[in-house]
Amino acid sequence: MTQELGTFAALGIHPNVLAAITAVGYEEPSPIQAQSIPVILAGHDMIGQAQTGTGKTAAFALPILSRIDPAKREPQALILAPTRELALQVATAFETYAKQMPGLNVVAVYGGAPMGPQLKALRQGAQVIVATPGRLCDHLRRDDKVLATVQQLVLDEADEMLKLGFMDDLEVIFEALPESRQSVLFSATLPPSIRSIAERHLRNPQHVKIAAKTQTVARIEQAHLMVHADQKTAAVLRLLEVEEFDALIAFVRTKQATLDLASALEAKGYKAAALNGDIAQNQRERVIESLKDGRLDIVVATDVAARGIDVPRITHVFNVDMPYDPESYVHRIGRTGRAGRDGRALLLVTPRERRMLQVIERVTGQKVAEVRLPNAQQVLDARIKKLTNSLSPLVADADAKYGDLLDRLVTDIGCTPRALAAALLQRATNGQALNLADVEREQPLVPSAQPRERRERDGGERSERGEYRERRAPMPLAEGRVRCRTALGTRDGIAAKNLLGAILNEGGIAREAIGRIQIRETFSLIELPEEGLERLLGKLKDTRVAGKQLKLRRYRED
Ligand code: AMP
Repeated sequence: MTQELGTFAALGIHPNVLAAITAVGYEEPSPIQAQSIPVILAGHDMIGQAQTGTGKTAAFALPILSRIDPAKREPQALILAPTRELALQVATAFETYAKQMPGLNVVAVYGGAPMGPQLKALRQGAQVIVATPGRLCDHLRRDDKVLATVQQLVLDEADEMLKLGFMDDLEVIFEALPESRQSVLFSATLPPSIRSIAERHLRNPQHVKIAAKTQTVARIEQAHLMVHADQKTAAVLRLLEVEEFDALIAFVRTKQATLDLASALEAKGYKAAALNGDIAQNQRERVIESLKDGRLDIVVATDVAARGIDVPRITHVFNVDMPYDPESYVHRIGRTGRAGRDGRALLLVTPRERRMLQVIERVTGQKVAEVRLPNAQQVLDARIKKLTNSLSPLVADADAKYGDLLDRLVTDIGCTPRALAAALLQRATNGQALNLADVEREQPLVPSAQPRERRERDGGERSERGEYRERRAPMPLAEGRVRCRTALGTRDGIAAKNLLGAILNEGGIAREAIGRIQIRETFSLIELPEEGLERLLGKLKDTRVAGKQLKLRRYRED
């Protein structure tokens, strides 16, 4: 059993922050959160050893927000992050957790974007600053009082900051901060350089670390699949086509995700149900009973809700969302391989979670092999195999029972027995695609087996239908720009000038702000300014081009 982690409320988080967490659907604190939050709330300095994927951002964001006074319009917390991407991610996380705190503002300060708006936001009293060290130092050179009111400091991914050569900048920043501040340092590793910073700039820091014990999971065959976050449901559906499972448990992180995935599975005809912390105990027991006796085959659960499930029928565990730590991974996959049986565990890994995968491999002492998504041919073979398996036990007796009726129908309808059997198959399979062309058409994703020329023609992007590997590196972006994607392309009659026209007219931005536009057959990419992107995408929400919804989204190529 994993340790009981308690509730967020019991940790003493401010009610407004608690309300926001409930809204996002977190059910219980992750181990790093359970340990760090009380320490930070109590005002201690702290060193936390944790990497991405453990929930470390919330581990500092929640207590920091709980200690901020939104009525005071001055910088109160500073979070330093090594890269622009991480700074933006952390700023977005703060905004999410501060949704119920009116008057609370977050400013992200990073290089590659104009300084003016950042300085303005700082002067207008944003209470939380999330910054990369280099750019923050630029601001300090213009105004050395910017940080004078900061009471809480977080160094996020401190080891990465040092690797990127930010040591000198950090010293400048420490100088500009009040001595009385609280300091928290998060780092995946603690090399001497980090310890030395801690010795010089932290006061009696408490150490928080998640113990990593080696655990064995010998009878469970493990594999992982690289997938982008927005493709997870499609990937699960595809995997289920070919995995021969009896019962399966799929793990996700939030209540909402349990509901979303369970209903996507039900819509495809699987006997699936969600299990999360909102589900009453008696209902929960019913779900588990149904899984035991075969009325259900798939349960989509959060860690909390799945605790203690012991169902020998479970042959498969899908880790749809990454667990927070290796222990919880081992605990999750232990739901299969019960009673000495063999089990299979599949882990979906998004590109930024690669490191967590390595940690899991290290702690479990086992390689988690990479698998690819099945292609259309494999899906088709699996469907035909299922059909064969379901029909073959029937043929022995069916002739005696239905043979005469068949003859009669052939005569009445005036068709061949083959035509009649085909019609019966159509009915029996509910119109499911059962030839290669149809399967290819219905599959929104295609595995990595695409010819290289096609990939290169498509500009090295992940192909519209889901290229998983061997991507060519995308074109580098100009500073301050991001790529956005629409599912409209040449097959929709789109040319660059249509896209440009629509974005200029409806987005109200200058032509110079727009970078390269790439039009492909089934999608297009366009470079837009990162600053104000959310607002711009908001303005373009209902925009149509060539009669179709543009639906422009930020395209993350990590
Ligand atoms: P991080 O380690 O901060 O990069 O967080 C990893 C992911 O876990 C983020 O997508 C968070 O939204 C999510 N997350 C963090 N804490 C929790 C929690 N207590 N329950 C569910 N999801 C969480």
